[in-house]
Amino acid sequence: AACRAGCSHCCHIPVKVSAVEARALGRAIGRAPVPLADHEPAAIAGYASPCPFLSDGRCSIYAQRPAVCRSHLNMDEDALLCQLLPSGHQVPVPYLDTRALLAVSVLIAGEDLGAADLRQWFPAPAAPTRPPRE
Ligand code: SF4
Repeated sequence: AACRAGCSHCCHIPVKVSAVEARALGRAIGRAPVPLADHEPAAIAGYASPCPFLSDGRCSIYAQRPAVCRSHLNMDEDALLCQLLPSGHQVPVPYLDTRALLAVSVLIAGEDLGAADLRQWFPAPAAPTRPPRE
């Protein structure tokens, strides 16, 4: 795979996580996910809205990262095709075929299929605001 430590491209694209996985992740990291009904619209993914768990270019919850993060691999020789493209443009990156994993996860999740972006389940804390100057 072209994937290497320090590359965080996939942490800037949508990260779809089911409700059951969000709860399991929340238990593992000690932080409850925001209930589905209370979700704000998903942040537009892109380099302006990285995953809230990305810290200094690395995953801060690597051992507990969602299944989609574990299985999203670029199977090319290099990461040349890993780049954000304008909406509507597609480049055929040779990703790992995860259809079987997806089918199994649907079976495990059962009826609890409410899925959302990781940014909605675990929004980034609001940036601290500076007190007004006097
Ligand atoms: S959970 Fe970790 S690996 Fe997955 S998108 Fe976020 S920072 Fe990247």
